[in-house]
Amino acid sequence: MSGDYTIIDHTYDVVVVGAGGAGLRATFGMAEKGLKTACVTKVFPTRSHTVAAQGGVSAALGNMGEDDWRWHMYDTVKGSDWLGDQDAIEYMCREAIPAIVELEHYGVPFSRTEEGKIYQRPFGGMTTRYGEGRAQRTCAAADRTGHAILHTLYQQALKHEAEFFIEYFAIDLIMDEEGACRGVIALNLADGTLHRFRAHIVVLATGGYGRSYFSCTSAHTCTGDGNGMVLRAGLPLQDMEFVQFHPTGIYGSGCLITEGVRGEGGYLTNSDGERFMERYAPNAKDLASRDVVSRSMTVEIREGRGVGPKKDHIHLHLEHLGAEVINERLPGIAESAKIFAGVDVTKEPIPVIPTVHYNMGGIPTNYRGEVVTLKDGNPDQIVPGLMAIGEAACVSVHGANRLGSNSLLDLVVFGRSAAIRAAEIVKDAGEHHRPLPKNGSDLALERLDRIRNAKGERPTADIRADMQHVMQNYAAVFRTGESLAEGCEKMDEVYRSFAEVGVSDRSLVWNSDLIETLELENLLGCAVSTIRSAVNREESRGAHAREDFPDRNDDEWMKHSLSWVDTQGKVAIDYRPVHMYTLTDEVEVFPPKARVY
Ligand SMILES: Cc1cc2nc3c(=O)[nH]c(=O)nc-3n(C[C@H](O)[C@H](O)[C@H](O)COP(=O)(O)OP(=O)(O)OC[C@H]3O[C@@H](n4cnc5c(N)ncnc54)[C@H](O)[C@@H]3O)c2cc1C
Repeated sequence: MSGDYTIIDHTYDVVVVGAGGAGLRATFGMAEKGLKTACVTKVFPTRSHTVAAQGGVSAALGNMGEDDWRWHMYDTVKGSDWLGDQDAIEYMCREAIPAIVELEHYGVPFSRTEEGKIYQRPFGGMTTRYGEGRAQRTCAAADRTGHAILHTLYQQALKHEAEFFIEYFAIDLIMDEEGACRGVIALNLADGTLHRFRAHIVVLATGGYGRSYFSCTSAHTCTGDGNGMVLRAGLPLQDMEFVQFHPTGIYGSGCLITEGVRGEGGYLTNSDGERFMERYAPNAKDLASRDVVSRSMTVEIREGRGVGPKKDHIHLHLEHLGAEVINERLPGIAESAKIFAGVDVTKEPIPVIPTVHYNMGGIPTNYRGEVVTLKDGNPDQIVPGLMAIGEAACVSVHGANRLGSNSLLDLVVFGRSAAIRAAEIVKDAGEHHRPLPKNGSDLALERLDRIRNAKGERPTADIRADMQHVMQNYAAVFRTGESLAEGCEKMDEVYRSFAEVGVSDRSLVWNSDLIETLELENLLGCAVSTIRSAVNREESRGAHAREDFPDRNDDEWMKHSLSWVDTQGKVAIDYRPVHMYTLTDEVEVFPPKARVY
């Protein structure tokens, strides 16, 4: 190695990587249980992407009409197109109710009904009585719900005296010979020091990888770092072919317009001024689930009914709601539309287009947050010492398509569940940490050193742009075997071109060139596993719409895809069965049926 790297050592019971909603809920839950807990985060906690969540968080509270967590469970199973694990979905929907009440008690400033209860709005795919009526299930703090939740969780974490390592970039996991995780190596961005965190458990809460696409709603920091670490540890990612396109990103900027707009009565029109969703989803209309609405919009545009000079987008109307409702319930949207589309929403429609929004795939876990892998024929083999939660994880509660407002819920429910499980594990482990493997830090240090000294011809930004365009064009809303195969070849080329990357700044202090290159390597792993899993899955399910295989095929494909990526970017694929069982006898399994809205 060319660099001389001094390492500062730390020992904790648990190290959480990530301070978004999932990471913070886990961090303070663990600290609350008396575990010595550190939280390592590359951005200041309240700048995590969770802060941008707008619409709300689901829970069958029944504050504004009848509701039942079993109906919520049914909707989530159906939304997942029967790829979600029903034990985990049961856990999430039942625990949703106490989890939201808990958030309220921690101080989340939810909007209120006249009687002072938590305000709830309708959201896509959320119904009552197993699809009969429309549920009002999504708890909202105006259109800034993520902001409200994230700030409250950070306050709780400070109160419980968790220790924060802010603006520290986690590079790689420390794995031992037995395949257990023993810690993580991180770089302090401000002064260039290296830190070795030794812990009984590392919790990855690093969020999604939206930035592998050209147009997405997620922050520039959503680069799949935890996913990259898992791949380099020789572990698989799950269901990576399932990428959610949100129907309403602002045309041009990709900035999100929440589904809450349609929940409050907003609707979409084509160039004929027609409310076309009535044709595609006669019952749910504009509030059908996201994959359905995104596909319908894409068909309208393809068939020449898009709006604008290029006929390449769609209009979203909320003028009819009136200034008062807009100011009270959707103030942030009015502002975003003004800034990013130059539109006054009380007078004109917003130009929108389906935009990459959420990654259903990620690090496979059970409902307690423990990372699992397929080993010696056991599809639920636990990886000791490693947990994953939030968008980085695939529990899998969202299956092939996530319902709006189920992600914020996933963060708090599984962040909490990971804390409960961690307390049990650490209690069993006792005081003593197992010895660190001798060469455990090499993976991280060699990678850092290689990239820091990379002298190739290709700037990071060029390779990233190549990747983003391939993903945008070939792993899109509609897919065919042919275009995916072409996309795979192009992605392989992009992956190979990373060997020629050049980093111009060799410093370790605030070296954004270096960090962006480390992030790009993580994104590339996510991108190849996404497109390879997509070409491999020969059916249509949820967000994965194959024009050459238009139907869902439960006989052959009701299974999770696992993908391993080697150092050359080669992808190997295998499968895990979907959990078609429940945790308790309070509810029965929902067997697969056709998914219509
Ligand atoms: C614009 C927008 C609006 C949304 N609205 C809603 C909504 O209304 N309802 C809903 O349910 N869902 C919504 N979602 C989805 C939901 O907000 C996200 O899925 C969720 O917030 C992800 O949370 P997280 O805790 O997993 O990760 P994030 O909030 O993305 O946080 C990731 C954390 O990991 C840290 N990190 C990452 N890599 C590293 C590294 N290498 N080293 C150290 N730290 C690292 C970051 O610093 C950060 O703290 C929305 C998403 C977007 C993009």
